[in-house]
Amino acid sequence: MFIFLKPLFHNIFGYFKSFFQEIVNLIFPNLCLICDRELLTVEQHICSFCTMEIHMIYFDPSTRENPLDKLFWGRVNVHSTFALFNFEKGTHEQKILHQLKYGFKAQFGIQLGKWMGTDWLQKNQHLKIDAFIPVPIHPRKKFNRGYNQSEQLANGIASILKVPVDCNFIRKSKNTNSQTKKSIFHRRLNVENVFKLSNNWRQYKHIVIVDDVVTTGATLEAMISIINKRYPALEISIFVLAMAK
Ligand SMILES: [Zn+2]
Repeated sequence: MFIFLKPLFHNIFGYFKSFFQEIVNLIFPNLCLICDRELLTVEQHICSFCTMEIHMIYFDPSTRENPLDKLFWGRVNVHSTFALFNFEKGTHEQKILHQLKYGFKAQFGIQLGKWMGTDWLQKNQHLKIDAFIPVPIHPRKKFNRGYNQSEQLANGIASILKVPVDCNFIRKSKNTNSQTKKSIFHRRLNVENVFKLSNNWRQYKHIVIVDDVVTTGATLEAMISIINKRYPALEISIFVLAMAK
């Protein structure tokens, strides 16, 4: 008897579920984070029109001389680098970074990370990675924001590449002030001695540090120099969502 009724209940439940979803969408419409246009059910966070206007970066994987590689020349040893798009003020990319960092959009970070992972995989299928290390933020900042945006990106990338994310490898011990309005010299001073490496020896050969945006590279430089000193044989690559032009 119940076997026959099961599809009927299933249909009724499905009907109420989509009806309820419509009501929720009416009260809280799902809008594009860039242009505020209502999203189609197949779209997530950003509409197709805005997605097409994002300035994606193409780095030739056969060369180690892309602009992000060059940023670290003479500063720290970096194995390889990857950035998904360029970042300029007043562009879609700036809105994406703002929403990721301050918009309480944890799931958006995962989606962007998946996007990074998919794009990277198309170009570099043979590089062996042992772990993704998100750039840490101070626990207080993480509490206020609800998440660490670099960790969300790393989780998204890791889900595509099937590589673990290690959030304990390096921690932030000091809550530095916002970097945005500081000069290059003061940014470097600001990030020195704020990172602490975990005491557990990890058997990694190649790690990838994940960050949301790179401007001067001071934060990444500080992190990498600490890791270089402790583990000189460890290869370190960098994945960022956006690179400032
Ligand atoms: Zn849009």
